Amino acid sequence: MENFSNYEIWWVTGAQLLYGGDAVVAVDAHSKEMVEGLNNSGRLPVKVVYKGTANSSKEVADIMKAANNDPRCAGIITWMHTFSPAKMWIHGLQQLNKPLLHFHTQYNAEIPWDTMDMDFMNLNQSAHGDREFGHICTRMRIRRKVVVGHWTDPKVLDKIAVWERVAAAWADSQDMLILRFGDQMNNVAVTDGDKVEAEQRLGYHVDYCPVSKLMDYWKKVSDADTDALVAEYFKLYAHDAALEDKASEGYKSIHSAARAELALRAILKDTGAKGFTTNFDDLGDWDINDPHFVGFDQIPGLASQRLMAEGYGFGAEGDWKSAALYRTVWFMSQGLPKGCSFLEDYTLNFDGANSSILQAHMLEVCPLIAEERPRLEVHFLGIGIRKAQTARLVFTSKPDAGVTATVVDLGNRFRLIVNDVECIKSKPLPKLPVASALWIPMPNFEVGAAAWILAGGTHHSCFSYDLTPEYWEDYAEIAGIEMVRIDKDTTIPAFKNELRWNEVYYMLNKSLC
Ligand code: MN
Repeated sequence: MENFSNYEIWWVTGAQLLYGGDAVVAVDAHSKEMVEGLNNSGRLPVKVVYKGTANSSKEVADIMKAANNDPRCAGIITWMHTFSPAKMWIHGLQQLNKPLLHFHTQYNAEIPWDTMDMDFMNLNQSAHGDREFGHICTRMRIRRKVVVGHWTDPKVLDKIAVWERVAAAWADSQDMLILRFGDQMNNVAVTDGDKVEAEQRLGYHVDYCPVSKLMDYWKKVSDADTDALVAEYFKLYAHDAALEDKASEGYKSIHSAARAELALRAILKDTGAKGFTTNFDDLGDWDINDPHFVGFDQIPGLASQRLMAEGYGFGAEGDWKSAALYRTVWFMSQGLPKGCSFLEDYTLNFDGANSSILQAHMLEVCPLIAEERPRLEVHFLGIGIRKAQTARLVFTSKPDAGVTATVVDLGNRFRLIVNDVECIKSKPLPKLPVASALWIPMPNFEVGAAAWILAGGTHHSCFSYDLTPEYWEDYAEIAGIEMVRIDKDTTIPAFKNELRWNEVYYMLNKSLC
C-alpha cells in the first residue's frame, strides 16, 4: 500500500463563531474524535488529517490554497457541524482544485430525546448546515461526492474509501508519464485522440520515445541479471521442464523475453514513466545475420504482462488512453483481492442466453486476473515485424462479476464508458495459447454489446473484478468527463436517449468540453 501512504485526505469542519467559544471547542473535540474514528476503522486506505474548523471566509480560503499547494493532499472532506453560512465558502471553493467529498453526517447518532436543549441544538446542526453548504456547491457548479450516513457505519466508511482510492489515483495521474514506443498502429482511430486535451483534462502526459532509446537499455542488460530473472520465472510459473534446458530454443526465447523485460523496466524507472505502449511493427533494428544487431527478437508480451501486474499502465498498438486508464485502475485497486487487466474484445461466442465475448490479446493479458497459477509457454507467433518463438503467460481468468471501462475521444470531449460484465468459465485454447477471459456483458450480450458500440466504445478496455461502478462515477466526477454506464437496467431506447441528451448537455457546458 506504499502508494496510498504517499497521500492524505484533509478534513475541514465548517462552523462559525456565533455560538461562542465553548461551541467552537466542542466542535473541534468532536471533529478530532471523528477523524480518529475514521482512521482507526481499518476501512480507509488513505489517512485522514484533521485541519481544524473553518469559521470565516479567510480561514476557508487559506485551507483551500494550502490544499492546492500540498502534493500530499489528494482531496478534502468537508462537514458542517454547526450552521456555517456558505457565503464564507465562496472564495475558497472558487480556488479549490483538489477532489471534494461533502460528508453529511452528525456527531451523535440518535437524538438524545430526554436531554436535548438549545445548547445541543446550537452545536449539532449538520441537518441544515450541510444543506446550506450543498446549496453553494450546487450554485457554483462544484463537482463533488456527497456521502450521507453516520461516521461509524461501515457502509458509509466504505463509500469514503472508494472516493479516497479514486482521489489518490487521480493525484497519481496528475504527474503520470506514458511512454510510447512507436506511434499508433495501422490507422486505428479509437486508440488515438487528443493528447493535449488529455493532459488538460485528465492530467497525464503522453510522450513519444524512440525505440532506439529503448535499445540502448537493451544493450546494457547484463546476462547475470537476465539469468536471475529467468530463474525467477521458473519458480513463479508452471512450465514444461524441457524449457529449462539452456540449449533449447524455448530457453533462448524465454531468456530473450527476460532481457526485454529488464530493458523496459529500466527505461520506465529512469524516466519516471508510469505506463507505456508498444507497437509490434517497431521493435528495433533486427538482422539475424548482423553480429551487431540491436532489437527485440520477439514481441515483448511477457514483459508487458508482468509489468502490468507490477502497476505499470499498458496499452497495445500505441493505445495511450488504455495505458493511462489501466495504471489508474491498478492504482485504485491496490490491496484489493481479485485483480485487473488490459483486455481486448477478441471473438464472439453465440450461445443463446449465454452468448459471450472472449477477452484476450495476442499476448498481453495481466496475470492478476488468473484463476490458477499462470503457465509459462513458448510458441511461434506469426504476427508483427518479428515472426518468432515468443514467450508468454497462459491462463484463464476467474469466473466472477466485474466491470470494464474505457475512455474515448469524441472530438469535443472524453467519454468514459463503463460496462458491468459477468466472467464465466473459459476453456483452454490448445491452438491459440494466450491468456483469456470470457464474459457476458450486462444486461445481456445483445444489449450490452449494442450499447457499447452505440457509445463509440473501444475494442480495448480496462477490466477489474474489484472496482464497482461507484469508483467510475467518482472518477468521472473528479475529472469532469462524461460517463455512461451499461448495466442490468440498460435498454437500448433509453441508452440512445441518454447519449442524445448528453450531446446537448456537453454542447451547452463548454467548460466540460
Ligand atoms: Mn489490440
